[in-house]
Amino acid sequence: METLVRTNKMMKTDTPFRYADHLGPKSIHHFYEPATGLMAILVVDNVAAGPAIGGCRMAPDVTLDECYRLARAMTLKNAAAGLPHGGAKSVIMANPEDYANKEQLVRAFAQMIGPIEDYIVGPDMGTNETAMGWIRDEIGRAVGLPPEIGGIPLDEVGATAFGVVIAAEVAQNFGGPRLNGARVAIQGFGAVGKHAARFFAEKGAVIVAVADINGTIHDPNGLDVRKLVEIKKQGGSVIDYPNAHKPERDTIVEIDCDIWVPAARPDVIREDNEHLVKAKLIVQGANIGVTEGAERMLHDRGVICIPDFISNAGGVICGAVEYAGGTESQAFEVIEEKTRANVAEVLGRASRNNILPREAAVRMAEERVAKAVSLGRWK
Ligand code: NAD
Repeated sequence: METLVRTNKMMKTDTPFRYADHLGPKSIHHFYEPATGLMAILVVDNVAAGPAIGGCRMAPDVTLDECYRLARAMTLKNAAAGLPHGGAKSVIMANPEDYANKEQLVRAFAQMIGPIEDYIVGPDMGTNETAMGWIRDEIGRAVGLPPEIGGIPLDEVGATAFGVVIAAEVAQNFGGPRLNGARVAIQGFGAVGKHAARFFAEKGAVIVAVADINGTIHDPNGLDVRKLVEIKKQGGSVIDYPNAHKPERDTIVEIDCDIWVPAARPDVIREDNEHLVKAKLIVQGANIGVTEGAERMLHDRGVICIPDFISNAGGVICGAVEYAGGTESQAFEVIEEKTRANVAEVLGRASRNNILPREAAVRMAEERVAKAVSLGRWK
């Protein structure tokens, strides 16, 4: 009782214990290393299912609050994906484009997290496979490594996009459009969007519109995905594609299509523009491509919206397979198996209980974490 009173008091104050709830965070670390000027934070949120996997973000303005929220998102994402890993996240407060100092900072960071063995670091904004190579060199563990030292190049092979397309395929059994012949629009033509276009086309879908940062192209008869990929490979933009309409960039949201894929920025479909969406299925490659309020409004008018952390888990699943020493083809098998099972479970629960797919997904993930917690003595 006394402990509870003390805890409640502390939680009301400005200490990091304000984050404490039934799942975590297990530990919060602040690192400072004067020789390099390293300032970094690590939040290990929950390790009940196994050592936590989570990216390291490098940006000048990252905060403890952001780090905590990203760590919790990883706990739920890894649990929802059915991985034997908990969630964590780390941030290094630095400019990722200051290359003169970057290697020293990353190596110093590696030394700081070395003793925290229940944290496995992966790449995130501002860090990449080379940075993961430096960390592996320092402390012997990291995921998202260069292929030369056992990594699976998940962006090159399209791991996340593959999961996105499998998720859309499963949605067919829950009232989603048939992929064969479906008209697809994709916002973003990078690691996720480009490969999603390729995998959708392989399933017989017609890519009617794509956008990148420079603009949107639209052809209701279908775009040639191979030609688009070639243009991107040469360093061009989707707007260099010949013979397509080029409407204003952000009108991609309102393109007449059956499936809409956010694969660029957060919050692109919001309460104020969701009414423009014509698709019957939204399958998210981007993180928080659709706001929660918009998801509810879309649901109310019969649009299926698969939550981001269910449909875009291909990348983290690939990282877990890499960590376990698996190969690229094994990674694709695991992504397919887990995504099929999880999307079916989420959409099944949502329709049985008449709740949003996101609510079903969060409940499923929390149940899995709680079960893992119940099996441990101290976790
Ligand atoms: P990327 O940098 O490779 O590609 C981003 C693409 O979006 C580029 O084509 C860019 O031109 C385009 N873009 C940027 N701003 C835009 C705008 N305002 N309108 C239209 N297009 C715009 O990034 P990525 O790795 O493909 O990631 C895309 C999204 O998916 C991000 O939200 C990322 O967090 C999320 N995600 C990626 C992975 C992964 O494995 N790469 C995994 C999970 C989630």
